[in-house]
Parts: sequence; structure tokens; C-alpha cells
Amino acid sequence: MNTIISNGNDKNCIEMASKVLNKDGLVAFPTETVYGLGANALNAEAAAKIYAAKGRPSDNPLIVHIASIQDVYKIASDVPENATALMEAFWPGPLTIILPKKDIVPDGTTGGLNTVAIRMPSHPVALSLIKESGVLIAAPSANTSGRPSPTNASHVIEDMDGKIDMIIDGGDVGIGIESTIIDLTGDIPTILRPGFITKAMLENIIGPVQIDKALIEPDPNLRPKAPGMKYTHYAPKGELTIIESLSYDNQAIISKINELVNTKKLAGFKTAVIATEENATKYQCDTILIIGKANGDSTIAARLYALLRECDKLDIDYIYSEAYSAGELGGAIMNRLLKAAGHRVINV
Ligand code: AMP
Ligand code: MG
Repeated sequence: MNTIISNGNDKNCIEMASKVLNKDGLVAFPTETVYGLGANALNAEAAAKIYAAKGRPSDNPLIVHIASIQDVYKIASDVPENATALMEAFWPGPLTIILPKKDIVPDGTTGGLNTVAIRMPSHPVALSLIKESGVLIAAPSANTSGRPSPTNASHVIEDMDGKIDMIIDGGDVGIGIESTIIDLTGDIPTILRPGFITKAMLENIIGPVQIDKALIEPDPNLRPKAPGMKYTHYAPKGELTIIESLSYDNQAIISKINELVNTKKLAGFKTAVIATEENATKYQCDTILIIGKANGDSTIAARLYALLRECDKLDIDYIYSEAYSAGELGGAIMNRLLKAAGHRVINV
């Protein structure tokens, strides 16, 4: 397939993409979180093409992207008051809300679940694409399943060129990690995936919120409520290990990473370290990847996936990363980093 690559600012871009979506084709487009791979959410055949292009397991449901709050009532069978309050507070923006679904949403979009995940993105290209096409767009991240999510159009091209109809280039995304997912179908609102909208921000609007236990304790017997959270994700090809100090001993982290790096270098492997600006000069690895300032959680979130992809480009065999749990986004960053590392963590 010949994939059209078009700049989001070009006059005809959105019109062309709308046509593709209305013919049940696939369009990758920028959102404020990561790039999405979009298709008509209400057409099972269109949604099936997303799974094929990504190599995504069929039990991993898709988020439906909408451009007006009225659209929620087309696809959700019950919209409780706390849902309305969250929509008013955080939409358009990086919050996905799970509600009971109406029959109009095919099982192919929800992985057979009787609930549907809904989000209104704030990125102007995403919003105008949904509005102009008149299509409710099912859109998971536009990466090959398991790889880091794309944060610019070249990442999407790496994974999707030749497999989808069109890619809209909207430059670098702003946030860089996927939306917060909150499930409102149980007794207590539950965060299924941490993201830019934090637990405290949600509680400020609707009161007590819990975090899906399976995210906190990596217990193989606990199944995450968001099917996608059970898969290894975001993983680079090289082996990634996180070095953490529960007592925040920065020197201990540096020493441990250098010990590991030197062992691997002696054995002839290529090594990289993902480090803060403050620590960057202290490592003896082949490649240093600077993720941002230690207290710059929003920059760290925005750069994480690009750095993991960079490791693949450079054919790095072993990657060591400092832990980044500081700041409001620390929880969401560590959630992604742990998944990318397959929970390989060394405490010093
Ligand atoms: P992605 O679109 O790649 O960011 O992944 C979407 C995430 O939302 C995955 O982890 C899915 O498992 C999760 N998700 C989508 N729909 C539902 C739903 N109805 N219930 C629970 N999790 C969902
Ligand atoms: Mg994804």
C-alpha cells in the first residue's frame, strides 16, 4: 500500500483524511498525548484493520475519540454525573473515560467488552479531523504493538509506512505519554492507566478515586482491568534495566550503572544510559541519552518514547535508566518505564 504523508497544516490534508476515514481506511494523526492510528469506531471491519496494521492482540480494546460531548450519548448507555463533571473539567484533554457501551459500538472496537473507552483530544488536528469527517475515531497509539508509542510523525513512518492509507504530520506531540484512563462503571472510580491527569486532579472534581491494584503490585495473579496494561509495551529491542534507589542515593545509582555498563562493554556489547542532564557527564557508556532535568517531569514524559526508539536505531544491546518517580507525572512515567523494562529493576 502507498501511504500518503501529509502536513497537518496543508489546506487539503484534513479533507483528504476525512475521505479515507469515510471509506473505512486508516489514518495516523497527532493528538496531544501520542500519535493515534484512526479508523471508524462504529464499523467493525474498519476497526479490524487497526489490529492488523499494529499486530495488536484482538482482546485489547480501542479508545473512541470524539469532538463534542453530545457524541458520548451516542455510544454510552449510561452517563453518570461524575462522568459529566470530569468531561467538563478535563475535556478536551488527556483523559479517557470508560462507560457502559451502547449496541452501536461493535465488539470489534471494544475487544468484546460491554464497556467503551471515550476521549475528546485537545490537539487541533485531531479535533478538526473528527469534526470534518463526522466519524467517531477509534485510535490506539500508532506504533507496531509492543514498540514505544510514536511522539512524532517519523516514528509513525518507521512503524506504519506501507501498511496504512495516510499519515498526518503535526510535528512533535506535547505530552508524550498516553491519556489517563478512568473506569466509571464500578462502585469506586478507578484509574486503569496513569497519565497526565493525576489522581489528585481527578479527586478534586469527583472525590475518592482508586488505582487499579494490578498496576501497583506487579502480581501475576492480578489481571489489570485495562486489557492493554497486561502486555509488555513500549519495549526497545535492547535489554532495558531501571536502577532505583529507594533512599534517593544518586551516587549509588551512578556507581551501579557504571559497574553494569563496564561489565557489558568488556563483553563487547553496546551500552546506553538514559540519564538526567545533571548526571549526564558521569557515565562511561557508549551513548548517553539525556531525558531532561531531574525535576522536569513534563520534559521527561515528552522525551521518553523517542529515546527508547533511539536505542533501537543505534542498535544498543543494554540500556540502563535512572528511575524518574519525582513530580506530578512521576507515577505515569515510572508505569511506562517499568513496562518498557519488563519490570527489570535493580534497587541500590
Ligand atoms: P492505546 O489506545 O494504545 O493507548 O491503548 C488503549 C488502552 O485502553 C489499552 O490499555 C486498553 O486496554 C484500554 N481500554 C480501551 N477500552 C477499554 C475498556 N472498555 N475497558 C478497559 N480498558 C480499555
Ligand atoms: Mg498503545
